[in-house]
Amino acid sequence: DDVLIKLEQEHDVSSAAINAWIKPLHIEDVQNNNIILSLDAKYGERGIQFIKKKMYDFYISLAIQDLTGKKYDIIFELEKDGASEKSSTKEPVQDDNNLNPRYTFDTFVIGDNNQMAHAASIAVAEAPAEAYNPLFLYGGAGLGKTHLMHSIAHYIIEHDSNLNVLYVTSEDFTNEVINSIQHKKQEELRNKYRSIDVLLVDDIQFIIGKDSTQQEFFHTFNALYNSKKQIILSSDKPPKDLDVLEERLRSRFSWGLTVDIQPPDYETKIAILRKRAELDHIYIDDEIFDYIATHIKSNIRDLEGALNKIKVYSKLNKQPIDLELSKIALQDLIDNKSKQKITPELILKTVAEHYNIQTSDIISKKRSHDIAYPRQICMYLCKKLTDTSLVKIGEVIGKRDHSTVIHGVEKIEKDLKKDSNLQNIIDVITKKME
Ligand code: ADP
Ligand code: MG
Repeated sequence: DDVLIKLEQEHDVSSAAINAWIKPLHIEDVQNNNIILSLDAKYGERGIQFIKKKMYDFYISLAIQDLTGKKYDIIFELEKDGASEKSSTKEPVQDDNNLNPRYTFDTFVIGDNNQMAHAASIAVAEAPAEAYNPLFLYGGAGLGKTHLMHSIAHYIIEHDSNLNVLYVTSEDFTNEVINSIQHKKQEELRNKYRSIDVLLVDDIQFIIGKDSTQQEFFHTFNALYNSKKQIILSSDKPPKDLDVLEERLRSRFSWGLTVDIQPPDYETKIAILRKRAELDHIYIDDEIFDYIATHIKSNIRDLEGALNKIKVYSKLNKQPIDLELSKIALQDLIDNKSKQKITPELILKTVAEHYNIQTSDIISKKRSHDIAYPRQICMYLCKKLTDTSLVKIGEVIGKRDHSTVIHGVEKIEKDLKKDSNLQNIIDVITKKME
């Protein structure tokens, strides 16, 4: 189970892929440094090729190494006849509704970053095909799109069991299209998709450039839309930025409501971590949440990964979870390297670039706002991102004394509390340096 969690949280293997490919694997044998995993014979060699192509073996090996400290090579086999007979009575992969039971509205933490997306999802879940159609959710990786989509699907299934709900990733959809073409079963595929009341397609950006898949999706979309069925899509970008997507699809995607999910702010990160710990029944001190939330960038999957790492680390070492242990557990997740590389000089240069002024302006005596403000941002960033002392920072920034630096840092800290745009600017500048 820990391996599965790791695969999903740290290596970005989708839960659908885990259900479809990783869970059905059996541990046949462990010899020296090899773990032999067997796959149901019905998948054939192609199944193994698929797993390798997706590098699941690599991720499994990494996850096991993380958990046990030992490196194993993963070897795949097809199940022997006897065994495959047993497993052929197992439910076929497609019958699984592909939904992660953990991804529900109950476990979703609402913050400023996702409040719109959450509200729209609830509206659609409560009144499919009446509220917004299609609903288009977009945002960066690990910000909760899949979680929201599964939540909608769970909700609808629970409240109206008559509705035919289908959640697929666009990869699943692509594979189905390819299979149907190969086996001349396009009619069947069309019938399947057209009998659906609520269709959710995750990561729709991956159908870009796949002509026959786009075609098929276009027809599916029209058929469902015209018979007033709900369509919910997710993507990493808004429709207008899906450059290579056929125009007719792009415009359709924006017929309903398009909402974004932004990276969480500090408070939301803390709330998500608290919720996660609560669901896992582990007690974690606030200072540890604070440590994770300030050091892990913006991705919620990484936040959860961090928490998980701490949990596993404490279990393996049989030590209680405290700040010390957390810092050690997160050592390689938290990028100290970039911290060392960032120097006051680099900060000055990057800030000057960003504001289109000269570094010499920043260290000059000029006091106009368009120079003084970037100068204070430099002070703030030097304090935050380097180990340089306040006195030294003052010296680098035009021989100013350390109380000027303190004043500058405090000014920016204060502004950050009321000006969310400033946070964006700081993030952009920080990103540039990394
Ligand atoms: P995406 O599909 O946008 O890449 P996911 O939906 O897979 O992101 O989310 C990544 C992880 O973060 C999941 O484990 C999910 O449960 C969790 N997560 C994301 N947003 C929230 C939230 N608002 N509240 C609780 N957990 C969240
Ligand atoms: Mg996703």
